[in-house]
Parts: sequence; structure tokens; C-alpha cells
Amino acid sequence: MRRARMFSLVVAMIAGLMLTISCNSCQSGKKTAVAEPYQPLSPAFNADSAYRYLEQQVAFGPRVPGTAAHEACGDWLAAKLAAFGATVTEQRAEVTHYDGRKLPIRNIIGSYAPAQAKRVLLFAHWDSRPFADQESDPMRRLQPIAGADDGASGVAALLEIARQLQQKPLEMGVDIIFFDLEDWGQPSFEPQQVTGDWWCVGSRYWAEEPHVENYRAAYGILLDMVGSGGATFLKESYSMRYAPAMVERVWSTAHKLGYGNYFPRQEGGYITDDHLSVNEMKRAPSINIINLKRDSRTGFAPHWHTLNDDMRNIDRNTLKAVGQTVLEVLYTEK
Ligand SMILES: [Zn+2]
Repeated sequence: MRRARMFSLVVAMIAGLMLTISCNSCQSGKKTAVAEPYQPLSPAFNADSAYRYLEQQVAFGPRVPGTAAHEACGDWLAAKLAAFGATVTEQRAEVTHYDGRKLPIRNIIGSYAPAQAKRVLLFAHWDSRPFADQESDPMRRLQPIAGADDGASGVAALLEIARQLQQKPLEMGVDIIFFDLEDWGQPSFEPQQVTGDWWCVGSRYWAEEPHVENYRAAYGILLDMVGSGGATFLKESYSMRYAPAMVERVWSTAHKLGYGNYFPRQEGGYITDDHLSVNEMKRAPSINIINLKRDSRTGFAPHWHTLNDDMRNIDRNTLKAVGQTVLEVLYTEK
């Protein structure tokens, strides 16, 4: 994914700063109330198992579309979803990319209660970026990234959620989609930038041609870069535009569960990501839970699109905060 507009980030930063100032000035008169501890309704998200699913994806090597490692990991993901009781559908296609190259797409879909009309959509991308174009060394830029955080983390959290859905089924339907070809946007080091939509190709394909005709879900949640230590899930601006009520619901659930430090109540700018087409094609009002930084050059964590995006950054506590929050949202659905 990439950052869409810098202007909104600046506005959000100023707004955030003003909010901080105004809140600091009104702290003094506040009364302390002892709140009842929140009783979660969801089963416990196992961060060790999510960590293991993350490690297993990374062990395949970079999941670059068209490579043997990508195909092998795809087979493993489809088998995992099936083992966790999901009805698995695969969507394969071929697209022409910015350089004229033909690239395969393999979207992997795991459905729970497929006959239920009421559905929720959970998604992440499972491919990893073929270039480390945020590296400063030109030789390193040409290498593919491990994508532990950027790709594997969201998928890992969703696999653990799938395992929980099998153990404690929900009445409503849930679709888990692992989108392909999210992260093959044209590298920034190429001098001629070709006009077109080269990011989030798999999700756009699905949004236009869903696996079920006229597919609609009550809401959608995208997990992207949800695995690194000290992650901050700022409120992404397309999520605020298309699904503000879901942003509020997810953030307030996280705060109730004690994960408020991961979910600051601050806006983080527009990110071109898999939720965009899903929203534009009205498949589901969808939000993006994504690690955003206000104090970095790129707006993302320093390992973003570099060779450092590997297991060293992955922290079970972050996976737990995100996974438990999403589970709680699902199991408190009325
Ligand atoms: Zn990426």
C-alpha cells in the first residue's frame, strides 16, 4: 500500500496537536470514576498460534506472485482455511501490469456459514513486495522483502481468527479473503512512472468480480501491518470517509479491552489499500487497521518496504491487541 495524500496528514497532525493541547488544559477538574471491568464475549485470541502462522508464511520466502514460493504458500493458506472448517474458494486471473508483464492473481477465500445472508468480511493481502524500494542502497532496492509485517501479519491474525470461528461458530456468515497482488505497485526508483492503478490489484479484481454474485457484507475489516512492536493504528482517512461508525466501534472495543495505546484516537491520512475498491464497489463499508506513524518520513514504520521487514520486528503483543479486538467486534455483533 502507499500513502495517498500528504495534505490530509498535515491537517490531521495540526488537529491532533490542538486536541492534545485542549485535553491537557481540561484534565485538572476531572473526577475519577471506578468503572466495572469489561467482560469480553469473545474467545481468547492465541497470539502464539498467530505468531507461528506468521513465521510459517515467512519461511516460504518472499511471496512474490508468479514464484514457486508464492504458489506453495498459497496452497498452504488454502489448506489451513479448509482445516479450520471454512469453505474455500479460489479466484485466479491474469492481469497486464505497468511494464506490460502478465501477472497471475490468486485470491483465496474462506467462508463460514456460506448460506447466511448476514455477512462480515475480513481481509488482508498475502503477497509480498518484489522490491525493497525504501532502501537507500540501489542494489538492496532490487531485492524482494520478507514481508513479515507487510502481508504476513494480517494473514496470520486472520488464520487465528479462522481457528477460533471453527471452535466457537457464529450465526452470521464470515468471509476471510487473502488478496493477492496488493504490493506490486511500480517502484519509486523507476524514473518513468506509468499512469494507472498498480497497487491493490487482487482486491480490485475481486471487488469488480466477487466470488459470489452481488456480494454484500454488513462491514469489512482490513488488517495490514498489524504485527510490529509499538504499532499505532491511527484512524485511516478512507475508513473514516466510508465507514466511520465501524471505526468508532472497533476503536472503542480496543479501548474497552485495554488496548487503547495501540488504537490512538487520531486520524492518520489516506492510504491506498485493499479496502478502497471494496468500499468504492459497495461490497462492504470497510475500515483499515494499519500501523501509521506521524513522525516518520514515509508515514509508516521504518521497516516499511525495506529488507528489515522480517521476524525481528514482530511482537506477539501487537498481534494479540489486534486479533482480540477484531474477535470481540465479531462476537458482540447483534
Ligand atoms: Zn506494502
